[in-house]
Amino acid sequence: MTRPSNPSKRRPQANEDEEPAEEVPSEAEGTPEKKERVLHTRVPAVLERELKRFADNLRIPVSNLVRAILEDAMEVAGSASQSIEGRLAHAAEELGKGRERLTKRVLPDPLADVFAYQPVTLAQEAICAKCQKTLEAGDRAHLGLTDAPSQGPKARLFVCNSCLPRS
Ligand SMILES: [Zn+2]
Repeated sequence: MTRPSNPSKRRPQANEDEEPAEEVPSEAEGTPEKKERVLHTRVPAVLERELKRFADNLRIPVSNLVRAILEDAMEVAGSASQSIEGRLAHAAEELGKGRERLTKRVLPDPLADVFAYQPVTLAQEAICAKCQKTLEAGDRAHLGLTDAPSQGPKARLFVCNSCLPRS
């Protein structure tokens, strides 16, 4: 039952500009099922930019996003008949239309704690918490009000007009 708690086994967050490091957690003895594989694959520059932007919006490491996309693609494809490259390519197509689904997969509902929406005019650029659309200064948006203790500007929830829940 004892789990080796070696902090050096944790992989660093892969949100740097380079490809994910080759390093694999060193020797996880006795727990082969916990071992994870590092996959290398080439992605088009456009896709990479898009992935980075999306991961950035969600404030998660790119590697987490890629994993979510692959998991999602596996469910969508429903079989193991596609190569990883095929899944990534498919996922790239899906990125545009599947943003909301992917966001749900990697994050809890960002608006779960909102009790009211207040119409605002943005003074600074913001990102719609739901669709990840960039909202410009001067845009009309809605500020989601929560009871959660304030965690600073990053915790502010804005939604664009089309994402505003309506009855
Ligand atoms: Zn939106």
